[in-house]
Amino acid sequence: MLIKNSTSQSTTSQSTTGVVFDIQKFSVNDGPGVRTAVFMKGCQMKCVWCHNPESLSAQKQLAFNADKCVGCRRCEQVCPNGVHSFNNDGHHKVDFDACQTCGQCVDACMQDALKIYGKEMTVEQVYSEVIKDKVYFDKSGGGITLSGGEALKQFEFCLALAKMCKANGVHVCIETNGASKTEHYRAIAPYVDLFLFDYKATGDDLHKTLTGMTRRLVDTNLHALNELGAPVILRCPMIPGYNLSDEHFEAIASLAKSMTNILKVEVLPYHNFGKGKATEIGKTYDVDAIMPEDKEVNAWIESIKRHGEINVTLS
Ligand code: SF4
Ligand code: SF4
Repeated sequence: MLIKNSTSQSTTSQSTTGVVFDIQKFSVNDGPGVRTAVFMKGCQMKCVWCHNPESLSAQKQLAFNADKCVGCRRCEQVCPNGVHSFNNDGHHKVDFDACQTCGQCVDACMQDALKIYGKEMTVEQVYSEVIKDKVYFDKSGGGITLSGGEALKQFEFCLALAKMCKANGVHVCIETNGASKTEHYRAIAPYVDLFLFDYKATGDDLHKTLTGMTRRLVDTNLHALNELGAPVILRCPMIPGYNLSDEHFEAIASLAKSMTNILKVEVLPYHNFGKGKATEIGKTYDVDAIMPEDKEVNAWIESIKRHGEINVTLS
């Protein structure tokens, strides 16, 4: 029997399904060693600089790469919902809101200009992909990283996958914005080796302006993980013109010093990878930050270190 729960995940007696938008093998930026990163759809926050805008919606989404399109109009012919249309000058218009993600145009396009972000997968299907690289995990100290979006928005799926990985000797990391339910962090912590926990901005007002949420739940969850003794790396996106200040550097250092479970601080310099992907799914991307040079990044790292004897590195 199929049972739908409140997070739109479905379960059978044997499997739990989640909506995954990417599985990246041999990732070296999502935790220690060589890792397989599993990217889950859906997020509570809306960070203005989001580098995975295709992750924000929990639903599957159509993406269109105009650079690849040759204007053959095959997509227009097969779409039952009139999503694709063309001006007299041949300009291809896409009505993203009308798309039902049936995938017919994706199959029809010979140029690979269309794709659907998001695929429903069972825990077992994802695990079978992950476990293929166990030999590399074991050699490098790597494993699986559950990411997103916010992975824990699909909590039942993540819990089941983390349990399965842990039971089979796979190191488990979760990348989190910190804004999921506190009871979810408590429940999954025994099956997680390392939390990569975001620290996005200092001060409730600024945090809300930049992410759509205040810091309150995030701070509550950080304290809960500290009480549990769950290992955390604090990950700090640095967005010039948006969240940088000496107050911010000091707050990062102060937090890292105050919690015994924070192993280190990682600085994530701004990049604009999200811009092209936002355009492909019909969204705007309004950040006008400039990607920093190495000397600026090093200066930020030193600024945090000046406020305390803590380990701070580039992610
Ligand atoms: S995925 Fe289906 S509904 Fe969406 S644009 Fe393509 S053919 Fe139309
Ligand atoms: S099928 Fe592909 S290449 Fe042809 S018009 Fe549609 S998106 Fe462009």
